[in-house]
Amino acid sequence: MARTALPPGVGRVRREGGIVKFALRLSDGAEVESVVVPMRQRALGRERASLCVSTQVGCRMGCVFCATARMGFARDLEPEEIVAQVEAARLLGHRPTNVTFMGMGEPLDNFENWAASVRLLINAPAGSAVAMNRMTVSTCGFLPGLNSLAALSWKRVTLAVSLNAPNDAIRSSLMPVNRKHPMAALRQALLEYPLRRGVFMAEYVLLRGINDRPEHADELAAFLAPFRAAVNLIPYNGIRGAEDLEPPTRAETERFQETLRAAGRKAAVRETKGRRIAAACGQLATRMV
Ligand code: SF4
Repeated sequence: MARTALPPGVGRVRREGGIVKFALRLSDGAEVESVVVPMRQRALGRERASLCVSTQVGCRMGCVFCATARMGFARDLEPEEIVAQVEAARLLGHRPTNVTFMGMGEPLDNFENWAASVRLLINAPAGSAVAMNRMTVSTCGFLPGLNSLAALSWKRVTLAVSLNAPNDAIRSSLMPVNRKHPMAALRQALLEYPLRRGVFMAEYVLLRGINDRPEHADELAAFLAPFRAAVNLIPYNGIRGAEDLEPPTRAETERFQETLRAAGRKAAVRETKGRRIAAACGQLATRMV
């Protein structure tokens, strides 16, 4: 059977359910991965999809549950290399309606290039291959970048914060960034951030026996008390080299969710699609050059 030609630089297209993961090879031979994630409206007969893009080759933040962290850090992406992932998705036939900067790398650790890519996407002529209006940037709490973003007061970029722990002891054991920028400083930065109506998305990877106890949910709710943040719960997606970590059971996940809800906090469990093709949250990685 004849193979359909892939757009230049695009390789390793893998699919699971509606999820599509592809790698984009850059001019120096480095590769980054991007993921097309269908959204619920598909059931209504329209393809609505979100595109998760990368901003660095590797990452220097070292989160223990993340495959990208295991690569170490190679380099920042240029603005055009970030935008090229949107173009590649469209050349593959997808029509993502929003971009999430949640792929490989910490976007706000590559602040100038990332911000330039946002400007390229927003200012692209309507109908062009890279025009994009809606975006979400996820940060691990890298405060120099978060403060730079706050100064821009961008309305079209939704903020997501990858929290993953209810207190400094647990967070520092999972996310080295917390040793430099602890939770009190992060909370203060969020209080000063120009959030629309106090809203941001709090991401929380659930790790069995580490951060998934009901008392952790109560502590998390207390941390979030000044905000209208909804919590996205993400049962851990296994990665090579971190076999000691495991996701909670469904019952444990629901107990955590219910505890948050009882504390007045909106909380949803993110479906774990794309695990088999290593496209789920925390699983993206490529070889180093
Ligand atoms: S979770 Fe994000 S910030 Fe942390 S190591 Fe992975 S890519 Fe970097």
